Amino acid sequence: MSEETLPRPERSDDGPGNFVEDIVRQDVAAGKNGGRVVTRFPPEPNGYLHIGHAKSICLNFGLAQKFNGVCNLRFDDTNPETEDVEYVESIKDAIRWLGFDWGDREYYASDYFEQLYDLAEKLIKAGVAYVDSRSLEEIRETRGDFYTPGQDSPFRNRTVEENLDLFRRMRAGEFPDGSHVLRAKGDMTSKDVKMRDPVMYRIKHARHHRTGDRWCIYPMYDWAHGQSDYIEKVTHSICSLEFMNHRPLYHWFLDQIGAPAEERPQQIEFAKLNLTYTVLSKRRLQQLVQSKLVNGWDDPRMPTLVGMRRRGYTPEAIRAFCDRVGVSTRDSIVDITLLEHELREHLNATSPRVMAVLRPLKVVIENWPEDRIEVFHAPYDPEKRDGLSREVPFGREIYIERDDFAEVPPNKWFRLAPGQEVRLRYACILRCVGVVKNEKGEVVELRCTWDEGSRGGAAPDGRKIKGTLHWVSARHGLPAEVRLYDRLFKVEYPMAGDDKNDWLKHINPDSLQVLTGCIVEPSLANTQPLDRMQFERIGYFCTDLDSQPGALVFNRTISLKDTWAAIARKGEEG
Ligand code: ATP
Ligand code: MG
Repeated sequence: MSEETLPRPERSDDGPGNFVEDIVRQDVAAGKNGGRVVTRFPPEPNGYLHIGHAKSICLNFGLAQKFNGVCNLRFDDTNPETEDVEYVESIKDAIRWLGFDWGDREYYASDYFEQLYDLAEKLIKAGVAYVDSRSLEEIRETRGDFYTPGQDSPFRNRTVEENLDLFRRMRAGEFPDGSHVLRAKGDMTSKDVKMRDPVMYRIKHARHHRTGDRWCIYPMYDWAHGQSDYIEKVTHSICSLEFMNHRPLYHWFLDQIGAPAEERPQQIEFAKLNLTYTVLSKRRLQQLVQSKLVNGWDDPRMPTLVGMRRRGYTPEAIRAFCDRVGVSTRDSIVDITLLEHELREHLNATSPRVMAVLRPLKVVIENWPEDRIEVFHAPYDPEKRDGLSREVPFGREIYIERDDFAEVPPNKWFRLAPGQEVRLRYACILRCVGVVKNEKGEVVELRCTWDEGSRGGAAPDGRKIKGTLHWVSARHGLPAEVRLYDRLFKVEYPMAGDDKNDWLKHINPDSLQVLTGCIVEPSLANTQPLDRMQFERIGYFCTDLDSQPGALVFNRTISLKDTWAAIARKGEEG
């Protein structure tokens, strides 16, 4: 089935296109913001980016590209205790790897601390912000909920002078953590709980990875985020659905600082990406790392971009996937086989083919002279699109896959069996004439003969040979370790219902299988970390970061079988 005929997953529920793109197109057509398009990707540097972030990156950078605009990279670094430069660097690497460029527009909310502070004083002077000298806990307790209105703070009516004085002393470091906060004077009876005197600043005597000890008050998300958008003249501030109920506050703050209508960013919400068999949340991913259920953020089983890169994912496949799932305003969980399908499509088109034997079984070719070595030229691409090939030496002893031999073959067995013939890819036709066993009765070696007229693999009399096996010369093959990965979770929805708090129980204990004693063809001697390839008949692989000449290590990126296409085909057949 061709790519075109695969059913498309559900796209935007606001029409066939991408609804955010539609909004931007209309704004540009209407001359809003003078036709400018400025988006931003605002990660908090408190963890590594995951495939969900890729969706946001593709959307924000993609819109900027499409409408001749720009996309800012803005680090939302307002929580010094959880943030770190390690994360800043990894985030930048991941965005570059995905293929996007923020040029010189690398911004940090912390760069605006001074401006944000000035704006906060402006609000105090206007009588719309005050210092509350209660704990965050008390504040929370008196905020009420959807059914009950909140209660005014006893500090709500402090004078402007008193508020200014306290706020300045908060900044100056005179007070301990938790003793005061700055709150905006919203409406404690508002149906919108977010509008009930939201906290703008809290005291935190914590060292910040960029501003050091310069600050001991830090702005809250709602205050920092919208004003940072405004300072950067962002036109479309695209965020995920959970911020929908922050939107009135977002606009209220812009009203209070006097942002002119024509310079106001517009907040647009879209549904986050969720994937089956996957957990996407930095906090939970961190838990996996800390509890050593995976080997770090870049473990190839992780849905982080560093993990996927190490696994052998291509940025092209991830971008194609993001494009294909589209942008919606309704939460849904995307089938991971769709991501894998996009990956296979791209790997199929771009991976050189090589041969590797993962579970070797020795074959001795009795009628092949001891010292005779033949070198075959095998194309990297079986369709010879690039004309490139490598040399594959062949000799008297070779390895084949243990699974490619059956002493008592089942019906329709086209691989090797006593008396049966197979083709060795690029080499010749082989017949099994004997089996050597150890004292436990296990097959440890096959004795075979080759058809001397079949050099290169074609039968001299044109007889049909159904099976073709991959192989590696015993004398020339290189030892390797191969790591096979399976899904990290056993169930499709590890976060469903009550499992939210108990999701770790769904971890797949067999998600990593390490095979040592594998043999790969000699052309891989100088493979570099992250090189991608197909091991013929087995799957797509890439060279691991741990790999070194003489101690090769490969990761299985994905098997050859495309479950998404199979599911789609079934669906069509009814
Ligand atoms: P997480 O819950 O994984 O920590 P986050 O939203 O807290 O995610 P941020 O660093 O704050 O992480 O996110 C940066 C941007 O990426 C935000 O605009 C956020 O909406 C977006 N984003 C995060 N997760 C997803 C996702 N699963 N799908 C789409 N966009 C996402
Ligand atoms: Mg966050």
